[in-house]
Amino acid sequence: MKYCTHCGAELMDQAVICPNCGSSAPQSDSNGGTIRSESWNVMCIVGFILSFFVSIAGLIVSIIGRRQALQNGEKGKEMALAGIIISAISIAATVIGVVSYVAIIFMAIGLA
Ligand SMILES: [Zn+2]
Repeated sequence: MKYCTHCGAELMDQAVICPNCGSSAPQSDSNGGTIRSESWNVMCIVGFILSFFVSIAGLIVSIIGRRQALQNGEKGKEMALAGIIISAISIAATVIGVVSYVAIIFMAIGLA
């Protein structure tokens, strides 16, 4: 068992984020191991995957994941950045698509 460094709540050993206050959990394991900077930030991976399917969710999760990875020295910063770029391009493409679709409709109405 370990404890949140922020609010002192009891945490599962596997916990990455404190369920009580939402701050990132201490990364030391029950064996008394020190902080391992080799661990991947889960939010970065989830954000990257989401960016292909749900652009806005992918963008938000990637931004949060990148911030967490930078704070905790975890791996996944590059993946989160890729997720942010993919999401942004996808959102931009969607916006352009909707705008041109609307424009075509208005032109069609105008020509009718
Ligand atoms: Zn906490």
